Amino acid sequence: MSRNRVTVVISQAQGKNPVRRGLEESLAAALLMEPGVELSIVPHLYDLEPGHTGRLFLESVAGDMIVIGWFYPRAGFWLLDRMGVKGREGSSPMHPVAEDDGESDEGDEKPEKMSPIGATGTIPDRQITLLDLRAKPGHEAYVEEVRRIIGEARARQEAARASRPAALVELGLPKPAPVPDPSALAAPPAARRWYPVIDYSRCTNCMQCLDFCLFGVYGVDGGERILVESQDNCKKGCPACSRVCPEQAIMFPEYKTPAIAGAPVGAVSGLKIDLSKLFGGGDPMATAARERDRELEKDGRQAVGPTVGMAPRRATRATTPPDELDGLVDALDKLDI
Ligand code: SF4
Ligand code: SF4
Repeated sequence: MSRNRVTVVISQAQGKNPVRRGLEESLAAALLMEPGVELSIVPHLYDLEPGHTGRLFLESVAGDMIVIGWFYPRAGFWLLDRMGVKGREGSSPMHPVAEDDGESDEGDEKPEKMSPIGATGTIPDRQITLLDLRAKPGHEAYVEEVRRIIGEARARQEAARASRPAALVELGLPKPAPVPDPSALAAPPAARRWYPVIDYSRCTNCMQCLDFCLFGVYGVDGGERILVESQDNCKKGCPACSRVCPEQAIMFPEYKTPAIAGAPVGAVSGLKIDLSKLFGGGDPMATAARERDRELEKDGRQAVGPTVGMAPRRATRATTPPDELDGLVDALDKLDI
């Protein structure tokens, strides 16, 4: 790949929703005509197992990358990190980063704040920007945003060139590439999966998820850092441990509740303030315990209730935004609007 081109990856939706497929296809067709774009299409990032050709492709990209898919950018970024596809997260005006408004901890006896672990390993000097395909209805806005990001990347390259010795300067504009058939760019499909994704920019390594999960999903690495070790042990559709995490660092990108799926916390808190009063909310710890008990019983094991693997502080914790929003979304679902 020419260093003047930026890799753009469309990560397809799970399932075969025709509206989603239609947007993916119109976007692919438009991006194929864009100068400076190296386009690829892979299944949903969440479903890419080690060795899948889509994953191997992502692992092989060395430069800047734009990944466009049906997930919150935070979830997509940490999904890529889990695959070893690392870089600096690029921002986009399509997804303004919400500030944590501090509401979620109101009345909560939070222990002294621990520092997040942060991403580990070498972070290459390249930018990865995630765009959520649910943000806009048509492909045009994404094409515009891709152009803007590429323009910024070129400006950075130019600045770097200007500061380098002449012998190292790379010359040349993007070479026009032949327009390939979009279907030839797509990696084969992948089976659906379900597992937690950790946002290490929030995780403080408190190990509450490890204590809480009784299905052997979590473990620790050689540096005693929490990790999702046996992801396929996770129970499909269950998000229990995301409610237990005090930092809201555990995401299930396909879960219906935005806070659990990786939405910026501030935005979710903002939504909560008005609407949770209308619908009320339960205790997230009680909900998590119920969800875990349900999965234990499905496995023929005995329910353990809210005492096992829950820190005492958390067992009495007041309602937090994810749970209130769960109540809201469930109530909205029942209204069928
Ligand atoms: S509960 Fe949350 S903060 Fe604690 S180790 Fe697990 S992911 Fe990290
Ligand atoms: S959702 Fe349930 S099974 Fe999956 S990791 Fe969390 S606690 Fe364990």
